[in-house]
Amino acid sequence: MVLSRFPTKNKVSQLSNQVSRSQASNLVIYLVCPACLTRSGSHDKLVVLVRSSLTTPSPMLTFLQFYHVEASGSFSTGSCRNLLSLVDTSSSSRSISWLKWIPANVLSFIWKLDLDRIAVTTNLIHRGIPNLPASCALCSAEPEDTNHLFIRCDFAKEVWVRVSWWVSYDFTGVSSIKELTNPPHNQRLSHIHAKTIILIVYSTLWILWTNRNKWIFQRRRVSINGIIEDIKSNSYLWATHRGSKIQGDWDIWCIDPMRGLQVCD
Ligand SMILES: [Zn+2]
Repeated sequence: MVLSRFPTKNKVSQLSNQVSRSQASNLVIYLVCPACLTRSGSHDKLVVLVRSSLTTPSPMLTFLQFYHVEASGSFSTGSCRNLLSLVDTSSSSRSISWLKWIPANVLSFIWKLDLDRIAVTTNLIHRGIPNLPASCALCSAEPEDTNHLFIRCDFAKEVWVRVSWWVSYDFTGVSSIKELTNPPHNQRLSHIHAKTIILIVYSTLWILWTNRNKWIFQRRRVSINGIIEDIKSNSYLWATHRGSKIQGDWDIWCIDPMRGLQVCD
């Protein structure tokens, strides 16, 4: 069932506090409040979310539409993200950081990486794409899944060691992608330092991915030193060009990124 127009208030009250499933078309209907993300209690505004259930048992949001129950109701992209994380049972209770310093295409990549939806070989084989190499293109030691490519691969390990030295923050003990994409709140870090850590982690993941693609599709191999330089320059440019009231010092950044960015008044 696809709702072709805004549900009436009467219809909302009928659907409230429940999740209904359309047997006919395999679409799952959710009704939630965009503010508190629950269906319980009474709300002035509710949004209806429709997604396909055809991809179960590993659900993926292949079809999605939002309907404003109240025509005057505001609905932010942040609400959409929260809704997505709410209904996607494969995602963790925490979500990725949507840091504005990071370009949208990179955030989109991090989001898909967090959901294990990027086009690594094991995922492509799972989608039925034939004639793919069995092992990682960078080390040939193991099948290329996300954990291998970004954590277990010797190439990635060396990059994380170098990044850890540079930042003076240990990333080498990480065992899962979500530990990188969903960085824990560290009480000892100031706000800008916590953002800097996220910036560098996401930049590192992005550079590892683009470097992998350069090798596979262009046969261009970048040295570890070249990758570290790319991580430093990308993350610095993102923060200083996209960050609000952020002032950077490139020379300090290259030595100690925790002192390389300042918030200016
Ligand atoms: Zn590898």
